[in-house]
Amino acid sequence: MNELNSISATLIQWYEQYKRDLPWRDTDDPYKIWISEIILQQTRVNQGLDYYYRFIERFPDVQSLAAASEDEVLKYWQGLGYYSRARNLHKAAQQVVSRFGGKFPDQYADVLSLSGVGEYTAAAICSFAYNLPFAVVDGNVFRVLARLFGIDTPIDSLQGKKEFKLLANELLDEQHPGQHNQAIMEFGALQCTPVSPACESCPLFTQCVALANGSIAVLPVKTQKIKTRARYFNYLFIKYTDKTYLQKRTGNDVWKNLYEFPLIEADRLLEESEIFQHSYFNKITAGISSGINISLLSAPLKHVLTHQQIYAQCFIIEIKEESEFLRFFEKTAIEHIGDYAVSRLMEILIQNHIG
Ligand code: SF4
Repeated sequence: MNELNSISATLIQWYEQYKRDLPWRDTDDPYKIWISEIILQQTRVNQGLDYYYRFIERFPDVQSLAAASEDEVLKYWQGLGYYSRARNLHKAAQQVVSRFGGKFPDQYADVLSLSGVGEYTAAAICSFAYNLPFAVVDGNVFRVLARLFGIDTPIDSLQGKKEFKLLANELLDEQHPGQHNQAIMEFGALQCTPVSPACESCPLFTQCVALANGSIAVLPVKTQKIKTRARYFNYLFIKYTDKTYLQKRTGNDVWKNLYEFPLIEADRLLEESEIFQHSYFNKITAGISSGINISLLSAPLKHVLTHQQIYAQCFIIEIKEESEFLRFFEKTAIEHIGDYAVSRLMEILIQNHIG
């Protein structure tokens, strides 16, 4: 047995002893594995579990997901963030129906061709469901490999991606690719963690280059620092009798196709008087002759996304008659706002200030 084979065998042995019992590990159904992988892309296992159960209960197979409306799929995704994942799941389910007759594809290239499926997800589905020899390379795998072999090539560089992919495939146990992939990812999640890895109980203690060199804390290396930008959202909760108005976000921006209150995005959080004079506010209220009340409903909230920090506040605008312009919004009873798929930020606003 060469060194790489022995490392893979050790990882698998460790996995069999310490793995967490998770529902998507008890199945070789590619549909369920796919759903779990997409949920887990940006979500911790604990949070993802509930969503997984609910999602699979409502959409037990690719046909039911393909036949659902996008609004409903987004509603089931509400709170998980990164909503393009849900939109792509829905689109890919329809691709499976139209291009593969409703049977989930079993070839790597076909799986990779589905919307929202990248190399990592395709390798995970193909190895877990069909035992095909494709190595997964996710954040956990980058970390384990960088430390174990002492590699300081930046993992977000082209060279790094190539190098790590090659090594991951060399290390792969081709007889048991699914088990091997699960093992190395679980090892990264539980043993070789980003902060304070459990080196004293690590079965690869003697082989680990980073441990010998004292470079654990600086591996893996990343080059690009993510730039974040600040945005300022001034929401308008317009109250007319027991009704209010929502709009669906469009365009290539955060929370696409989710609902929210009419919004004035500005370069800062605005004062009441500034809202009152704002051209968008004037458009919304054009033709309303009397009785417009405006007041601040919420203290500013800060909502952090990967590349953006969103500062938001909400004004309540009470009107006694409707304007023409309000026809362009989705009018709903206030008590039914909860039926709409909204962002986590909107959810907090509604829960804390509208009920
Ligand atoms: S010895 Fe520590 S750093 Fe090295 S693989 Fe094991 S847990 Fe990770």
